[in-house]
Amino acid sequence: MTLRHKIIVVFVLIATAGGGTYWLTGYSGEAVPRPRPVDPEGALVELRTGNSRFVTCRRTVSTDTRHDADLRHATAKGQHPFATILCCSDSRICPEFIFDQQPGSLFEVRNAGNVVDDDVLGSLEYAVEHLHVSLVVVMGHKGCGAIKAVVEAGDTPLHDHLGILQTRMSGIHKQVLESNHRLDAEVVDRLVEENARQQALAVVRDSPALRTAIKSGGVRLMYGIYDMETGVVKFFNFDSSS
Ligand SMILES: [Zn+2]
Repeated sequence: MTLRHKIIVVFVLIATAGGGTYWLTGYSGEAVPRPRPVDPEGALVELRTGNSRFVTCRRTVSTDTRHDADLRHATAKGQHPFATILCCSDSRICPEFIFDQQPGSLFEVRNAGNVVDDDVLGSLEYAVEHLHVSLVVVMGHKGCGAIKAVVEAGDTPLHDHLGILQTRMSGIHKQVLESNHRLDAEVVDRLVEENARQQALAVVRDSPALRTAIKSGGVRLMYGIYDMETGVVKFFNFDSSS
């Protein structure tokens, strides 16, 4: 074993000593791609610690270009993401930055308003059944334009395919009407959070496969809100009974 390999082994041993759920921040060995969290708790720790690096302007993983060629070579053989994230298409939402991750770590499903439909469920089921991700996160974001559009429209149907957004946000329809077209941040962000919760509810309600996987405990479903100003992602445990 060369000295370099001995150093790498020591790094890995240190990183796994605390429970084996994540590894050293700023690790600069040749582990490309990085080790993968093995359970929902480890996956959540990885997202939280990555988000903490983003918030404090200390990203390391997503800014590391030294191993780009190795990473391309490794991930071309297959992908092994540890989490799947349903989030808004908003151009300001970049999960790899927000959670400081490298390509191959997050399986993303995106559309305006992070709404659940059959296509989304197909992608989530693929991530869970075929890629064996252990954590599913529905992530809304403060100031979401899709939510604003639905609030602004109220009871008036949006034209063309935008009407689908309203249909998929039927879970917040009552609150939308109660908001009386108000677009101030308090109203919008409250509906953003409720929409994320409702979309998480739709995941377990409309997908028997995901419902079974989540009930088994091997897969965890959460929802979250991303604050574009601070960079903080606030996570919520999903309780289907609430
Ligand atoms: Zn949005």
